[in-house]
Amino acid sequence: MDAAGFHGFARLAGPEARASVPWLSHLEVLKASLTKLVMRSAEARASEITPLRSALDVRPAFRTEAGVALFIIGESLRADSLLTPGRGRGSAELQERLDRGLGTRLPDACAGGNGTFIAVPKLLTAAPGEAPPSDTARPSLLALARAGGAKTAYINNHEIWVMPETGHDLVQKISSIESSSYDEVATEAVENFIWREKGAHSLAIVLHLYGQHFFYEDRYPGDFFGAEVATASPAVLEELRYQRAAEYGAHILTRAGRMLDSLSVPAYLVFTSDHGENLPSDGTGKRFHAGPVNSRQDTLVPALVLWNRAFVNAGRQRRLEPLQHAALITHQNLALAWLALLGAPHPLSPAADPMTWGSASIGAPAGPLRCAELPR
Ligand SMILES: [Zn+2]
Repeated sequence: MDAAGFHGFARLAGPEARASVPWLSHLEVLKASLTKLVMRSAEARASEITPLRSALDVRPAFRTEAGVALFIIGESLRADSLLTPGRGRGSAELQERLDRGLGTRLPDACAGGNGTFIAVPKLLTAAPGEAPPSDTARPSLLALARAGGAKTAYINNHEIWVMPETGHDLVQKISSIESSSYDEVATEAVENFIWREKGAHSLAIVLHLYGQHFFYEDRYPGDFFGAEVATASPAVLEELRYQRAAEYGAHILTRAGRMLDSLSVPAYLVFTSDHGENLPSDGTGKRFHAGPVNSRQDTLVPALVLWNRAFVNAGRQRRLEPLQHAALITHQNLALAWLALLGAPHPLSPAADPMTWGSASIGAPAGPLRCAELPR
């Protein structure tokens, strides 16, 4: 596989492999890779080969700058559930970090859709908000980083591998529907990769977390918070568990921030969620996400950028300034921001009229939707 350029598989037996789960997507990747290797000259059968995303054929668009770049996609974290004062130590530590100038919370972002399968591929390919779900034929962020000279890792703790892509130095999936790992394990996998590749000029990692995806109580260790109130109603319990999952998420981001601090090279991370979530307290009757009608709660997500001291000293955080005073930005703005911080051409500019893909009323077909007009 190494000879064919599919480095990820040959390296799966590294220290992280103990936490990996094989997934049907891996089998598809393996099948496509073997077919490509064995059948390379058999053009007559080329039409039978399922095209699979590969980072290997992407042309360089820019040269990556030195250091570590991490893109973290959360799950189901609504805009109002990041950095909640008084909720716990993770949120408090994260706020302290921002107060010390080691990161910034950007304006909230409008996701590319209200479901994982629409929003994640659009985000990972920097698709415009108004683009349909199928508009993902451009190179992924991680493939652009690889083409620009970075060593790359694609690590997935979500139950489904939403956008499989080969050709990275590490491709790792940690959770499946049957067995899930806490996001702390995924963070550890990122740390392992950085440790393994230290000395490389440039590292780029995309991490898709399990985040706050229902069922909320499965997303954090049972002993991480105190006992639940035995008499709480199901709705109250659901809110509590969502906020606990979100607070555990703050703990994960704090740990990722400490990892950046441990590096002497410029290092940063961009965090956003794939989409938001509807909760009982909204009083809309909507629940969870990916419903037929979008809401502000399931489509607006938080946006956070953390960096270390070496990154500040290089002044790279100043590239974010054009986004900082917008009322609302988009997933595409964030994807391009991650690339700009890595060395892609800038300045950035926020979307003039943020858009998403979905529907604002029952029965209306999905299409481009103005984020300013999202219903509750
Ligand atoms: Zn999702």
